[in-house]
Amino acid sequence: MTNHMGTETLVIGSGPGGYAAAVRSAQLGKKTIVVERGQIGGVCTNVGCIPSKALIAEAHRFHSHKTWSRSGSIDAFLEAQAFKESIVTKQSGGVKYLLQTAGATILEGEASFIDRHTVRIEQPGTELLVSFKHAILATGSRPIELQALPFGNRILSSTEALSLASIPESLIVIGGGYIGVELGQMYAKFGSKVTILEGGQRVLPGFEADLVAPVIKHMSADGITIVTEATAVSAKQDLDGITLNYIKNDVPYSIRAEYALITVGRRPNTDGGLGLERIGLHPTSKGLIDTDKQCRTEVSNIFAIGDITSGPALAHKASFEANVAAEAIAGLPTIIDYKAIPLVVFSGPELSSVGMSETECKAKAMPAIVGRSSFAINGRALALKSAEGFIKIIAHSESGIILGAQIVGAEASTLISELGLAIEMGATVEDLALTIHPHPTLGEVIMEAAQNAVRKIMKTK
Ligand code: FAD
Repeated sequence: MTNHMGTETLVIGSGPGGYAAAVRSAQLGKKTIVVERGQIGGVCTNVGCIPSKALIAEAHRFHSHKTWSRSGSIDAFLEAQAFKESIVTKQSGGVKYLLQTAGATILEGEASFIDRHTVRIEQPGTELLVSFKHAILATGSRPIELQALPFGNRILSSTEALSLASIPESLIVIGGGYIGVELGQMYAKFGSKVTILEGGQRVLPGFEADLVAPVIKHMSADGITIVTEATAVSAKQDLDGITLNYIKNDVPYSIRAEYALITVGRRPNTDGGLGLERIGLHPTSKGLIDTDKQCRTEVSNIFAIGDITSGPALAHKASFEANVAAEAIAGLPTIIDYKAIPLVVFSGPELSSVGMSETECKAKAMPAIVGRSSFAINGRALALKSAEGFIKIIAHSESGIILGAQIVGAEASTLISELGLAIEMGATVEDLALTIHPHPTLGEVIMEAAQNAVRKIMKTK
């Protein structure tokens, strides 16, 4: 049986891109449908940001409060899994509530384009044809699978790694990007013997080496072994675990563990049955969809947001683009600006960055100075027993306008927003230096780094 429906805006996918787009679209008075083939909330809510941060927070609590024992670790991990499930359920329910209260209609099923104004939605025993004026594609991404190490049994993607029933005695993580580091450190804190194999020269290559150094020191203290410039080539699985073969400096090595977790990146969901070829939309070789500054694709009534577009694959980037796309469809004069997208690694200690780095300024021959301050003598950091780390603020060496900032240390994830706001507002280091920060707080380190930058600028004048 085939049913028909019509809408003004159709959103495909309900992750942080899709649900934010549907909510904004409905708020702007557009008749809006959002279609989801899996769980409401997408990767972020169900198998990404939220469950990983729940387990990471529990792992830090366990590690800092308890004397380690194998049985204590097993109990704590079971409690952490139950806690994680409870907040995923709450968050997914929250997303549904937001969509419903905004007035968006939620449809379950897999959407596939028939033409530029119609999709087919497969549902059990029936098929629904939805016609629309505009569509927002927010189909997200999935873990990249290595041909030599296909997912299954002892080879996990991040999705399975977030739902293990018990704490593995040992774990090999292949890929030292932020997901590999976060999950590897989480398992190490629960007592797993973790080895990270990274193909490049160091883990977290997206951050400068001085920022990553304190994280690497902590990872070693957590018992994590990091092997860089290593390429995994094959594996043999049995009932108890996996033997993984890798090559480093042309020398073959083998390593054994209970599981291997592959975190080598994510592939956009722009292939499969979505049928983009039927509407004349052609993803790049990496599966990404090109868009303009309003998230519009080469097909003028189709917009694309989130992990299927270029730029960092992050939830807040997806939601930001979502608002722009929904507003552009409603005819508002909106435009995307990527200059202040924060990046965060929920490692111990946390890492964050916004805007330009020192290295990027050098590469672009931008005249810049770096203001620095450390957490070492910050009263609040000492009270929290987290006095490791520092803050760098990069400013234009003549105007003092803040170009970027990086933080490694306690609450780096939260502190970075002040610097993102400063960049958005076109603030100078003097503005930050003259802003009274409450005492004793971690934010004082931002003010001190800004004061350091002001002194450096004064010296050059
Ligand atoms: P997704 O969240 O991937 O949602 C896409 C949705 O579309 C899915 O639910 C899918 O089922 C649905 N869909 C796909 N095709 C169809 C179709 N044809 N019909 C109907 N529905 C369809 N980001 C952060 O910012 N901070 C973090 O701390 C963070 N941690 C992460 C940790 C892990 C372990 C992982 C894996 C990711 C993490 N991310 C984090 C990344 C973040 O989850 C993604 O960037 C974000 O979810 C992308 O949002 P999206 O809306 O583009 O797509």
